[in-house]
Amino acid sequence: MKYISTRGECEPHSFEEVVLTGLAPDGGLFIPESVPQLTREQILSWKNLSYAELAFEIIRLYVDGAVEDEVLKQMVIDTYAEFNHPEVAPLKELADNEWVLELFHGPTLAFKDFALQLLGRLLDHFLQKRQQHVAILGATSGDTGSAALEGCKHSEFVDIFILHPHNRVSEVQRKQMTTVVGNNVHNIAVSGNFDDCQKIVKQAFSDQSFLPDGYQLVAVNSINWARIMAQIVYYFYAALKFIDKNEAVSFSVPTGNFGDIYAGYLAKRMGLPIKQLIIATNKNDILHRFISQNQYNLTGLEASLSPSMDIMVSSNFERFIFDMFKGDTDKVSNFVTGLSSTVNQVSEEEWGLAKANFDSASVSDETTCEVIKEIQDKHGYLLDPHTVIGVKAAQLCKKDSVTPMISLSTAHPVKFSAAVEKAGLETPKFPHHLSDLLQREETYVVMPNDLAEVETYIKQSL
Ligand SMILES: *Cc1c(COP(=O)(O)O)cnc(C)c1O
Repeated sequence: MKYISTRGECEPHSFEEVVLTGLAPDGGLFIPESVPQLTREQILSWKNLSYAELAFEIIRLYVDGAVEDEVLKQMVIDTYAEFNHPEVAPLKELADNEWVLELFHGPTLAFKDFALQLLGRLLDHFLQKRQQHVAILGATSGDTGSAALEGCKHSEFVDIFILHPHNRVSEVQRKQMTTVVGNNVHNIAVSGNFDDCQKIVKQAFSDQSFLPDGYQLVAVNSINWARIMAQIVYYFYAALKFIDKNEAVSFSVPTGNFGDIYAGYLAKRMGLPIKQLIIATNKNDILHRFISQNQYNLTGLEASLSPSMDIMVSSNFERFIFDMFKGDTDKVSNFVTGLSSTVNQVSEEEWGLAKANFDSASVSDETTCEVIKEIQDKHGYLLDPHTVIGVKAAQLCKKDSVTPMISLSTAHPVKFSAAVEKAGLETPKFPHHLSDLLQREETYVVMPNDLAEVETYIKQSL
């Protein structure tokens, strides 16, 4: 299978090339040339597979021979053996037909582990084969950073540079990054917000001439196709618990960079019977404004109680925009590069396509706290401030009560204890493997929001 760019200005690339670059050379995002189609019967035949077995079946459709089946299978088994729950992604029933899919049982307690533990192994496999050394560069709103460091720190073929917005990630998130030990690990706190970090990363990728000879950058943000690919799996895993008895299922997804929900959209395109896909946002609600009003304009980014979703320019939305514009790559380029604070709109037909695929809601900080408290009191279950936005959005957008509604739980509440405390609840406890996290020693540098300074630092550290 080949991968094409959403901007149409480069040749199709192989899976290996796509994993080893991330962003397409023309600044676009890679998408598969065609999406594998599955029948309901075929999907149902996977019902009794373990998480890792199912992951292998789905992922191999996209890897398509770029890694031998036996090697890939072992990689997938090793990846999900790192998770601290036998089911890997267990479902919890909150209320009648309302479910939470717990995606926080990986090493860093957020759903990012599902993809980054695998991406680390894929990278190591390809780099070992090529005997090539690369620099991983990523921006994080908090959780990608630690998951990427955990997933890639063991590889002798990578140096890894993670930019996070200074003072805008939670203490636990920061510690999970800055306490990772290894001389190939480099944490950079940028004086700015997540969009600033993401911009530096995108600019560094578009002109890599600052790197020493022979080096290239690899992206581990959700612009890297392998991340989307790995995340498709849990939509199937969750749906398979229901679709022998139910017609379809619905998902509500706390959304920032649109990677997680885009994986759900692909699952649906592959044939998984998904009725509703709900985009759940915090007050940084550009995606909600687009779905509800056909207005896609930038406003000031605001810090919220759900910092991993404090994003205005959702990178992966470009992958959906490509479909919405029916593959017209000029239109995609113009739309995404011309974004501004004035109102951007699409035609009624295009907007209709977006609305046919997604519902949306925006949830305030105040409601976030209220619902955390309400669910704890009613069901004795503690939600993190991202997950709760999905749960609330599900209640707001649900179109019927017979379709199981599954909210993705994207993080463990201990990562965001500030919100939990604000909701008037007790600070959650760390799982055993992280019980001494707050006492570990940190290493990171603080840098201005400046591309040249970051580039110089990277060059000198290689
Ligand atoms: C990354 C993240 C999100 C947003 O996911 P996207 O793929 O960027 O939409 C939501 N919640 C948590 C806890 C996250 O870490």
